Amino acid sequence: MAKYRFKCSDIGMNCGFETSAKTMEELFPKIVDHAKNVHNIQEIDEELKKKVEGAIKKTIF
Ligand SMILES: [Zn+2]
Repeated sequence: MAKYRFKCSDIGMNCGFETSAKTMEELFPKIVDHAKNVHNIQEIDEELKKKVEGAIKKTIF
């Protein structure tokens, strides 16, 4: 089993948001939702996407 975790603070946001999911496909929409609702980012561009992907940590257990 793998677990993917994302912390908003890892991309330099002053924010305590943290989320996790079993797959990247599940995790990414959660991050997109959060970005929209909390940070008012309406569109994740390529640069931000790369940043987010780089900040996602995979844990195998
Ligand atoms: Zn945030």
